[in-house]
Amino acid sequence: MATPETVVTRSEQETFALGQNLAAALQPGNFVLLHGDLGAGKTAFVRGLAAGLGADPADVSSPTFVLVQHYRGRVPLTHVDLYRLDSAAAVDDLGVEELVGTGVLAVEWADRLPRPIEGSVTVKIEDLGGDTRRITIER
Ligand code: ADP
Ligand code: MG
Repeated sequence: MATPETVVTRSEQETFALGQNLAAALQPGNFVLLHGDLGAGKTAFVRGLAAGLGADPADVSSPTFVLVQHYRGRVPLTHVDLYRLDSAAAVDDLGVEELVGTGVLAVEWADRLPRPIEGSVTVKIEDLGGDTRRITIER
């Protein structure tokens, strides 16, 4: 596994740009697993991913009620938020791995996955206060 790369961002735009940057290295079949508390910036990062994959970032919202969203880009992006799934069984039923299809799958609250997904890119976002976030990307 490659050494994790750590970046400090100081605005939502910088986090977006980091997601956009990562998208350039992604291929169909790749998983991006996002970790971080509520308000850390996971969705902001996914918005950047969408932009980098050629989808409209404005379509990306925190899917509060919608568990799974699809965005059409050069590479299709599927976005899952496991926050509202209250049991491991429910997450298991979702069969997250299969949602990757022919595109990239981004998962918020990935710590709720029932098992690790081999070969995933892991993104950890920590709130350091104010608009500062420490983002660790491991691929
Ligand atoms: P999550 O999906 O992790 O719950 P969101 O991306 O929905 O978080 O929200 C992050 C919030 O934090 C937004 O209101 C955003 O404007 C704010 N914010 C402030 N600084 C940053 C930063 N450096 N990176 C990302 N978001 C930031
Ligand atoms: Mg979110």
